[in-house]
Amino acid sequence: MTLPLALADLDEIPVDRLNGVGDQRRRALSEVNIHSVFDLITYYPRRYIDRSKEAPIVDCVVGEQIMVVGEITKVTSRSTRNRKSLVEAIISDGTGTVRATFFNQAWRKKQLLEGLTVALFGKIDEYRGAKQMANPLIDFVGDKTGRIVAVYPQSEKAGLVSWELARWITEALRRCEERSIEDPVPESVRLEYGLVSRHDALRLIHEPAELSDVQKARNRLVFDELLRVQLTLRLSKLHREGAVRGIDHDLDKFLSAAFFSSLPFKLTAAQERAVMEINADIAKARPMHRLLQGDVGSGKTLVAFQGLINAVANGHQGAFMAPTEILAEQHYMGLKEMAEGFEVPDSQTLTGVRPLSIKLLSNSVSTTEKKRIIRQLKDGSVDVAVGTHSLIQSGVSFKSLSFVVIDEQHRFGVEQRAKLREHSREDGRWPHLLVMTATPIPRTAAMTVYGDLDVSVLDELPPGRIPIETKWVSTPEAVKSAWNYVREEVKEGRQTFVVCPLIDESENLVASSAEATHAELIRGELSGLRVGLLHGRLKASDKELAMEQFRAGLLDVLVATTVIEVGVNIPNASAMVVLSADRFGIAQLHQLRGRVGRSSYKSRCYLVTEDSITEDAVRRLQALENSTDGFELAEVDLELRGEGTIFDQRQSGRTDLKLASLIRDRLWVERARSCSESLVEGHETIASNPMLGKEIEWFISARGPDAENLWRG
Ligand code: ADP
Ligand code: MG
Repeated sequence: MTLPLALADLDEIPVDRLNGVGDQRRRALSEVNIHSVFDLITYYPRRYIDRSKEAPIVDCVVGEQIMVVGEITKVTSRSTRNRKSLVEAIISDGTGTVRATFFNQAWRKKQLLEGLTVALFGKIDEYRGAKQMANPLIDFVGDKTGRIVAVYPQSEKAGLVSWELARWITEALRRCEERSIEDPVPESVRLEYGLVSRHDALRLIHEPAELSDVQKARNRLVFDELLRVQLTLRLSKLHREGAVRGIDHDLDKFLSAAFFSSLPFKLTAAQERAVMEINADIAKARPMHRLLQGDVGSGKTLVAFQGLINAVANGHQGAFMAPTEILAEQHYMGLKEMAEGFEVPDSQTLTGVRPLSIKLLSNSVSTTEKKRIIRQLKDGSVDVAVGTHSLIQSGVSFKSLSFVVIDEQHRFGVEQRAKLREHSREDGRWPHLLVMTATPIPRTAAMTVYGDLDVSVLDELPPGRIPIETKWVSTPEAVKSAWNYVREEVKEGRQTFVVCPLIDESENLVASSAEATHAELIRGELSGLRVGLLHGRLKASDKELAMEQFRAGLLDVLVATTVIEVGVNIPNASAMVVLSADRFGIAQLHQLRGRVGRSSYKSRCYLVTEDSITEDAVRRLQALENSTDGFELAEVDLELRGEGTIFDQRQSGRTDLKLASLIRDRLWVERARSCSESLVEGHETIASNPMLGKEIEWFISARGPDAENLWRG
């Protein structure tokens, strides 16, 4: 008797075993990372066309948002007067015709072939008496019949079209019928969450009879993806906890309480909770591995600082790694100020104590000074090191590092983090690790690349914050009013950031554009004000100076590049003007905007755009105008860009989450997590479910070195 097919079996069957997949098609498929039948049947539709919703062209009313399905009968292309390319296609459905026009998309010429059946989504206009759709969404229906048609992501580059993919997938699924596809998820779990079988789910996602089938299928497949990830992480965590030792801290020596009472404000409830979670972790000998997540301005820094102080109070050392020089500098100053008056035991002094010693290790520090600090970290006379990558340069070692903080962790690679953590101690023990991010639920972040992090969330802002008012301005008059506003604010004693356009090509160009903007503003809109300049190409000492002057209120306006994007904290800054804002992504604009609104002053952010911008840019800018909630914005970003690109994640060939979204599918993340807990329960294997155990083994080996590393540590 033949057994049902496991995913590993399907992954062993190369796609060219299917009819119609020869050498050339195989190469095309491999360009979109489809190598095996498993890859193919988990290549999911991008959307579905519900043909019962299609409108006969004859009935279409101008101004309406509609879908029409028809055949391409004619395609022409030409240049317009202002030298934009224009491709036009006539679509006919037997009741009438509509013209689809595409500006600046010359490649459409090759895509829109006469005789193809397409679905168009968009608004109907009228042009010289004829119906027209400008830049409609277009899907290729192919020869598919049936009410619901699945549309697959096409690849221009690889020359793959939707209906071809559909055909192969149908064939692959048909061939699975005889043996059927195995289902390792216990029936009890399936019942609990109302999940269909894996085989049914795969059939329904590709060939639904109703749109409601898609949801059913999706739930199951999303759960599968998340469960695999959760099980992998859980097993690796158990493995790590069994294998690696950390440093336990004595709660009685903690100085958090004293530290907090020295602050001019009370912690938010969320901060208190995070502090408790962290302190409970570091009291144990098992290395902490925790993500502190909180929107910009939620007060993550303090939570980290108190941990550092507790480590020092226990006779150990702390390290605080920031992604930029500016941020390292800021944290250094902040930490120094807050640690004012704290003492550590020292038998070498008369009093038996000495002041807590914090040092900055960055490029702005002279070589001699650097050498001295490195020596002092080794002999233990420096307690806390704040720095950038310099902290992980070879030659830096600590006497007894026990607490590591990494700010805005998505800026660092796995290797860098591992280095700081694993090579900092001679006894092989691992310091506790706290990574901080303002990115809402980093996608695979928490999950795949960063290993199984525990998560603390700061889900409330300190009281008294007034939401930042955001205005998108594009006309000369509106831009003028933005600069007037800046002047008004300066009169009130407030300060302003001006953010210069993002230019892809090179940092030199960015710097020179910042210089030009600076010069132009001084001559024009901001004449008479004290305007500083900050960009990446300045000497370290000049950067420092600009930042110091701005912080001290000696400058009214700081013209800067995105060097100020993360973390910079100048509470007196109440206005921001972002130039060419359409060039920035949502997440980036949200981060940038977070530089203002960090006090109880009313703040405003202007997003300036010139001439024509893309439709997506419009949606991004509107989203920022409408919301200051990082979570909500992440959702919009997700819709506009697809999840993979939000978090600057390098995409490996194989993604673990093809359907599941850590943002949208939060509920399923929770379910998969609790299911994985009950399945593993304290063992390092899934003893009770060998089928699932095998699947996870396959999953880990199929994901390559990244997963293997994850497994090890
Ligand atoms: P982020 O989470 O973006 O890193 P920060 O830690 O830089 O935020 O904190 C932003 C500002 O809020 C800082 O000026 C900090 O001193 C202040 N802050 C932090 N916690 C509180 C609180 N509980 N009440 C009032 N202000 C706070
Ligand atoms: Mg911060």
